[in-house]
Amino acid sequence: MTTVPTFLNYIDGEWCPSRSGATFDNRNPADTRDVIGHFQASGEADAQAAVRAAATAFTAWKRLSTSARAKILLGAAAYLESHAARFGEELTREEGKQVALATDEFMRAAQTLRYYAVEAQSYGGETFPNDDGDMTVYTVREPLGVVTVISPWNFPVSIPARKIAPALICGNTVVFKPASDAPLSGLRLTEAFVQAGIPRGVLNFVTGSASAVGPTLTGAREVRAISFTGSTTAGEQIHRSASLSTRTQMELGGKNPLIVLDAKDIDRAVDLTVKGGFSLTGQACTGTSRVLVAREIRAAFVERLAAKASALKIGNGLVPGMDLGPLATAGQLRTVLEYIEIGKREATWVCGGQQLTHDAYAHGYFVTPAVFADVPRDARIAREEIFGPVIAVIDVDDYDDAIAVANDSDYGLAASLVTQDARLMHRFANDIEAGTVKINRTTTGNLVNAPFGGLKQSSTATFRESGRDGLEFYLQTKTVYRGV
Ligand code: NAP
Repeated sequence: MTTVPTFLNYIDGEWCPSRSGATFDNRNPADTRDVIGHFQASGEADAQAAVRAAATAFTAWKRLSTSARAKILLGAAAYLESHAARFGEELTREEGKQVALATDEFMRAAQTLRYYAVEAQSYGGETFPNDDGDMTVYTVREPLGVVTVISPWNFPVSIPARKIAPALICGNTVVFKPASDAPLSGLRLTEAFVQAGIPRGVLNFVTGSASAVGPTLTGAREVRAISFTGSTTAGEQIHRSASLSTRTQMELGGKNPLIVLDAKDIDRAVDLTVKGGFSLTGQACTGTSRVLVAREIRAAFVERLAAKASALKIGNGLVPGMDLGPLATAGQLRTVLEYIEIGKREATWVCGGQQLTHDAYAHGYFVTPAVFADVPRDARIAREEIFGPVIAVIDVDDYDDAIAVANDSDYGLAASLVTQDARLMHRFANDIEAGTVKINRTTTGNLVNAPFGGLKQSSTATFRESGRDGLEFYLQTKTVYRGV
């Protein structure tokens, strides 16, 4: 019998247990008998120690040259790449996604680190012409101080990487709390920085429940910024409770529409809906969850979508050839099954939505991909984020009606239009209320080097993540007037 490893916090340059010694289990959602590890159930004292360590380390880290900091990011990137296959398997075990996607996620995290190692080196201030010939006026960009990074379980390495890399390269120090449902991938990211020689206190890793460590990590006096990705409810709460001197960057939920209006686009729209709505078992913030279909092509669209959805292979992400893995947690399973029942009362059930419990599914959180049609515009499945493999098909009259329905949402994360009409492509980019606008592409997916974020309740809309914009959040500006 293999023994289950115990994983530690990383605080002030040491791998250490929580003060209380308490731990929690991280289990495989494809087979809950598989315990991946015991993790530290940290408390307030551990969180305080991590924040203190980050505050103490700040001045020296800030003074280090950008190129010296970049060297550490590059070292960590190389470590992630060389271990991507093993770490990808671990990610699949803890979160459920297919192993190819999990391995890619580590490669993408490495790409993010490399991108910021280079990009930040040419990210400076400005000089300003003025009337005093003996004076130079210029801005300098400075790090903020201690940054708290809180991440969700659905992208447990790529999301923290796109926060931690810009934070560190700009000279901030970091306390990182991963989601309790997928802490191992975040630990591997931390380990990569440790292996690359990050100085003590600069990056601290603390596992534990949101209620136990959250108040300190988000409320401590030393914390100058909080970068959070997760549910709108939690993000709103953290954002509201943050002090005036604490910057917040909240990347939150979505209810992302895909629009198709013309019969010649049906096949492509079906493919994009299946990829955007069901890959990652629908657990992507940018996942397609509403499809707005012109009334006259709806029957053909739904028929083809149901055929494709029903043919998808669902199973353990470690088994080759699976299209969907399990839902990531027992809570996700409960929520999705509840919405399936709600959907059956609100709309026409077309296919899927069954929990699988036989044979290899017996100990996992498996649900077949579901499609609902004739979904009223005010239905809960049309308006609320489900975060699972459930598609609501809503009838629309024409382009203007589609835009009105798409925009009638509290969220504004991603949206896609499937069309060959160049005029509509242009109009859509202007009309749609979404931070990520796709045309003939899935609602999911974004580049490391381009800004990413949402509108309305999908983001705090202050600072974007990714790309050059991703550096802005971690810097403040000083204006210097230097006379002779
Ligand atoms: P969640 O329940 O909000 O948790 C996210 C993270 O925040 C976890 O680490 C959680 O810790 C922590 N947390 C929750 N409440 C907190 C509080 N009051 N103070 C401090 N930390 C707190 O979200 P989730 O279920 O993990 O993730 C799914 C959600 O994330 C969906 O709504 C999805 O749309 C959103 N998401 C958004 C993006 C984006 O870029 N816009 C990307 C991915 C996911 P514990 O795990 O210990 O509870």
